[in-house]
Amino acid sequence: MSNCLFCKIVNGEALGDIVFESDSVLAFNDINPVAPHHVLIIPKKHISTLNDIDEKDFNVMGKIHLIANKIASERGIAESGFRTVFNCNKDAGQAVFHIHMHLVGGRKLNWPPG
Ligand code: AMP
Ligand code: ZN
Repeated sequence: MSNCLFCKIVNGEALGDIVFESDSVLAFNDINPVAPHHVLIIPKKHISTLNDIDEKDFNVMGKIHLIANKIASERGIAESGFRTVFNCNKDAGQAVFHIHMHLVGGRKLNWPPG
């Protein structure tokens, strides 16, 4: 998608603070972190929201979870705990319409979310 910010980070047109890359998945630090660790993990292919995934996306959506596991472990927050979130559409406050997992950790997180 030519006007999608995260597609631009994938193809190098926009700068991202990249922490992991594979053939199908990219992870980068959130530009406005809400916790000591705040990483966005995305499929390289454009998918707008969680409403838009289907069976052909099982593999990449599974890989995104494995990468969250790996990053949390590398950063030493796997045991203390962390949160993964996909915001979907306006009631969840989704601002960037290229599906992304937020991996947030490094402090005590409240529940329920605001
Ligand atoms: P959401 O509200 O779930 O759509 O989250 C979008 C996230 O993207 C927010 O946490 C923003 O801080 C983050 N964000 C926006 N632009 C950039 C960027 N250029 N690089 C990294 N993170 C970004
Ligand atoms: Zn995109």
